[in-house]
Amino acid sequence: MKKINILLAFLLSFPLYVSGWGQMGHDTTCKVAENHLTRKARKHISKVLDGQSIVYWANWLDNASHTPKYEYSLTWHYKNIDAGETFENAPLNPKGDLVKALYELTEKIKTGRLSKEEEALTLKMIVHLVGDLHQPMHFGHKSDLGGNKVDVDYFGTHMPLHTVWDTNLIESGHRWSHHEWAEYIDTVSRSEAKKIVDGDFSSWGKETFEICKRVYDETPADKPLSYDYVAKWTPIVEKQFLKGGLRLAKVLNDIYR
Ligand SMILES: [Zn+2]
Repeated sequence: MKKINILLAFLLSFPLYVSGWGQMGHDTTCKVAENHLTRKARKHISKVLDGQSIVYWANWLDNASHTPKYEYSLTWHYKNIDAGETFENAPLNPKGDLVKALYELTEKIKTGRLSKEEEALTLKMIVHLVGDLHQPMHFGHKSDLGGNKVDVDYFGTHMPLHTVWDTNLIESGHRWSHHEWAEYIDTVSRSEAKKIVDGDFSSWGKETFEICKRVYDETPADKPLSYDYVAKWTPIVEKQFLKGGLRLAKVLNDIYR
C-alpha cells in the first residue's frame, strides 16, 4: 500500500494537465477540420507534412512538450483562470499560454518565411492547440491545476475532474472511432457552421471558459458522477469537438488562402 502511495505521489508531482483532450478529442477535432479544408489548404498541408494528414499529428504536442527539446511549450496547452478572475483580468503566465501561443503561431506561419521544417512544427502545434482551446478544463483554476487536484468519484473510481473531461466522459458517451465521431457530429447546416466559425482565438477561448465555470459549479463534490452526468455533458463535449474542428479548418484555410 505504501508503495502505491509513493507511486501516486510521484505521478501527481508531474504537471498532468498537459494532456488536453485525450487522443480521441484531438483526432476528432482534426478529422472534422480535414473534412472542411479547401483544396488549396489540403494540398499545401500535405506537402508540408510529407503526405501525412493533420490527424496523424493531432496529439503529437502532448508528448513532445514533455521532452527537453519542446519543453518551452508546456504552458501553451492551457490558460489558467482562478475563481473570481475573468478571462480578461486573469494574470498572464510569463511562460506563455494557450491563447497567446495560438496568436503567435498563426502570425508566424502567415509570414510565409518559415523553412519547411519550421512550418511543419508550427502547423503541428496549431492543429493540437486549437483542440485544447475547446477543452473546458484548459481554462481551469490555477489553484487546482486545471481540475487536476479536484478529486471526483466517477462511476465508483476516484480520479481528477480534469481526467474525466479528457477521456472518461468521451468514452462513456460513445465508443466510436474518430472517423465515426467526425461523421456523426458534423451535421450542422451551412449557416450554423458559419456562425460557429465567427470570432477569433480570444472569443472562442472565452466561450470555452464559460463552459469551464459551469463545470466547476455543476459538478457535485459530494456524490458520484454517474449516468446523469454523462447525459448532461456529452452533448457539450460533442459540440466542442465540432466547434474545434470547424474553427481549425477556418484557421488553416485562412493561412493557406
Ligand atoms: Zn495539449
